[in-house]
Amino acid sequence: MATKVKNLKGTEDQKCTCCDSWLDHWINKTGTKSPECAACSKKADVGGHVKKVDSTDGTHYIVPLCYSHNSTDDEFTAYGELVPAAKQSTCRVQSSAM
Ligand SMILES: [Zn+2]
Ligand SMILES: [Zn+2]
Repeated sequence: MATKVKNLKGTEDQKCTCCDSWLDHWINKTGTKSPECAACSKKADVGGHVKKVDSTDGTHYIVPLCYSHNSTDDEFTAYGELVPAAKQSTCRVQSSAM
């Protein structure tokens, strides 16, 4: 699955309400233990906020990113799963059950 996305700016202060970090949030949702950057397949450092380009879908998604891709302003193609950013504590039960 390849999705054209763009980094969302001004999300640095947003904390995941259900997980320790946005990267953990992505891991909890996908069950992937060693996430790779969605753009370049290097080891992911952070969970980045993105939204889809060429889509009316305004949902904010989390994808695992390396530091350099987390700071890019350019559109890029994200491979792998896009996990919606949590608005409520949606992961707690699932992650503690693992
Ligand atoms: Zn979460
Ligand atoms: Zn990268």
